[in-house]
Amino acid sequence: MAKRTAKATTKRAPKKAPMTRSEVMRAVKSKNTRPELLVMACLKDEKIKFSTHAKLPGQPDIVLSKRKIAIRVMGCFWHGHSCKNGNRVPRSNIPYWTAKIKRNVMRDRENLRDLKKLGWQVINIWECGLRKVNWKEKLIETIMRLTQS
Ligand SMILES: [Zn+2]
Repeated sequence: MAKRTAKATTKRAPKKAPMTRSEVMRAVKSKNTRPELLVMACLKDEKIKFSTHAKLPGQPDIVLSKRKIAIRVMGCFWHGHSCKNGNRVPRSNIPYWTAKIKRNVMRDRENLRDLKKLGWQVINIWECGLRKVNWKEKLIETIMRLTQS
């Protein structure tokens, strides 16, 4: 009997109503499974050594020093991704947000160029990509490919 109830809780939850913007922002902030942590957990599972807080252009989130690969985990909204989260238009202060995101995108581009100059290969992981079922396989594949090249 006990087993049965446990199983029931894993059942897919009914579709929720779309969140309001403030609910979304709150959810994003309070999430303890931050995207970087998901990526780090994946690397750990694969026994791929990495470090964080590297002193490199733009301070990439995760660095595989031996392979000279930098991984940047990017929030779609803040970094102006071309997906639906990245294209979300804030309800207030539009000029402020637009300018801020534009600056982020420019800085990301500059940092990418500087990292490459220093001989680093860069993997950008978009937050939305982490929702795809096979993102881990894809990431590992990319790391392997870049390691061989
Ligand atoms: Zn995205």
